[in-house]
Amino acid sequence: MKILVAVKRVVDYNVKVRAKADGTGVETANVKMSMNPFDEIAVEEAVRLREAGKAQEIVAISLGVAACQDTIRTALAMGADRGILVETDAELQPLAVAKLLKAVVEKENPDLVILGKQAIDDDANQTGQMLAALLGWPQGTFASKVELGDGTVNVTREIDGGLETVALKLPVLVTADLRLNEPRFVKLPNIMKAKKKPLEVLKPADLGVDVAPRLVTLKVQEPPKRQAGIKVGGVAELVDKLHNEAHVI
Ligand code: AMP
Repeated sequence: MKILVAVKRVVDYNVKVRAKADGTGVETANVKMSMNPFDEIAVEEAVRLREAGKAQEIVAISLGVAACQDTIRTALAMGADRGILVETDAELQPLAVAKLLKAVVEKENPDLVILGKQAIDDDANQTGQMLAALLGWPQGTFASKVELGDGTVNVTREIDGGLETVALKLPVLVTADLRLNEPRFVKLPNIMKAKKKPLEVLKPADLGVDVAPRLVTLKVQEPPKRQAGIKVGGVAELVDKLHNEAHVI
């Protein structure tokens, strides 16, 4: 069993995301970048499957600028065996990512592909679904449990108001939800070991994929700033303000 895991480099989840002054996108200059949290969960799941003797090889793949190598190295430190970077400075939209991943899947022939359910920068929640459709594979999205059987995978999915379990035949695409697992902390010796693991660099042209954007971002805007609160003298004043100023009671 070979597992391919996609890891995206995104603005760190602790950083307050700011829109660029010209409204063309999100500010990423001088901002801490990290692995997308759902992708950490995807890597953790792959590593646990290998530790349980159910998988032999884990390949971590990232698509984007050269610095995505750091994200791949984090996945290697968590336990992935080797990495692939599809390097480009171009803006990659989910469809382009899905097409590039499809080309890599056809080259690598994994049995299982695990993605995060969504990237916390674009919040698109599209890539996994698009990739499964392009490959013609069954998909188990928003997975909170993955159980490998003999040529099958049972995926428990978080759906509105409950859980759904689907039985899928390999090869399968899974997208990881928050409750699938708790990713491990990366230990220093593993970070050192990860530096020696193989990392292949490809270009979109090597994979014959046109990554030209299909959507145009018109404007990225921050939500309006919240007004500061005020202190009121007592209940009577509060009720008066709610009634006469806020008009909510
Ligand atoms: P999205 O559809 O953009 O919300 O992303 C869903 C998932 O697709 C992410 O959690 C990643 O696993 C994968 N993904 C999207 N973009 C990239 C990228 N540039 N590099 C690697 N993985 C990606």
